Amino acid sequence: MRYLGEENMRNTKRPVASRVNYANVNIVRKTAGFLFILIPAVMICALLIFNVDILDIQVILPAISMEAAAVVFFVFSASFIPRARRSDDSGPAWFCRIFWLITANALMFVAWSVDFAGYDNVAFVTVVMMMAVIPMLDGLECTVLLIIELIWSYFMSLNMEDPGTDLAVKVGICLVMVLVSRYVYSLRLRLFLMRHRMGGITKDALVDPLTGLLNRRGFDRQVESIWPFCVRNDYKVALLIIDIDNFKAFNDEFGHPEGDDCLKRVSECIMGTAKRSTDIVSRIGGEEFIVFIQGNKEDEMVDFAETIRRNVERMAIPHSHDAPHPFVTVSIGLAIAAPRGMDINMLYEAADVELYHAKEQGRNKVSFSGKVKRRYSALA
Ligand code: GH3
Ligand code: MG
Ligand code: MG
Repeated sequence: MRYLGEENMRNTKRPVASRVNYANVNIVRKTAGFLFILIPAVMICALLIFNVDILDIQVILPAISMEAAAVVFFVFSASFIPRARRSDDSGPAWFCRIFWLITANALMFVAWSVDFAGYDNVAFVTVVMMMAVIPMLDGLECTVLLIIELIWSYFMSLNMEDPGTDLAVKVGICLVMVLVSRYVYSLRLRLFLMRHRMGGITKDALVDPLTGLLNRRGFDRQVESIWPFCVRNDYKVALLIIDIDNFKAFNDEFGHPEGDDCLKRVSECIMGTAKRSTDIVSRIGGEEFIVFIQGNKEDEMVDFAETIRRNVERMAIPHSHDAPHPFVTVSIGLAIAAPRGMDINMLYEAADVELYHAKEQGRNKVSFSGKVKRRYSALA
């Protein structure tokens, strides 16, 4: 069974990774252009308002260096834009990281050379806030950058008569900013996913009317856009096929409308458990749901599946007298794989086999038997 048509995979427009890269390079380009205008403007103001000797080597040299750097980054960013559209190219990501590293440190250096008490702190807070909010850096990238800023700020304060803000306060600011950067990043990611999902197609065509979850088409679209992102970041991907146990008996005893209510409650329960912005939940028909997750740890993925099973059981929805369990339960087939060289079909086939095992072993179970290797493609 082919779950996701190959033509669908080939039609992938702009996957998330390339969108993140593209947005990042664009921001770099705008910032470099802005700095190109800002630096001479600041120099002119310094001359006219504060009567600074701008020809002094200590002033003109950093200014010319920064102006040159801004030009170089502005010009090079143009050639990185087409590369950013290709999700498997890590060049643009590195280009952006280097730009932000240089920019942040250049700003700190300027603040340090302006010998004015408190400037280092003002610069530190400004730079740290900028780094957390403006670039499209993920949590790890932002953390590394902020640690560098922290060390830089610490050595700066050693040279000052009045070191100003305590190091502990600065560490605290950095920690808060790491959280802010993670939030901003995931928000932008969600926005990309939403735009991609909605692109050129009406919302209704992608959503299951009963539960409000994505239907299979909507699911396909989201997985298509996030798959290359997982490949780039070396995340593991997991697919859960969730099937309500003995649902026919439930319908037979309580009727179809009650059955629909039960489907809604189970879908809400699954949605309530799959809370990350990158989790994708879908009802693919009847009493079957699928969930796509990504992450680093296999154990956590197995726990996640187990949590869904347990949460459904804990709702304690009374089941039919003909069912072996007093409450509504689900069986879950779980497949985990490294996404490189794989596709969603292989994952689906493996999860389907696992679901069959879960049913065979008595239902209300999660079945998982190790990471999926490519041999599953032979089942297609
Ligand atoms: P198993 O534990 O092996 O999964 O048994 P099951 O009874 O859940 O599976 P089976 O495939 O035999 O039956 C699925 C039932 O799901 C059949 C149908 O009555 C019910 N069903 C499918 N779609 C809907 C729906 O949209 N609303 C309602 N109320 N019931 C549905
Ligand atoms: Mg079924
Ligand atoms: Mg069933």
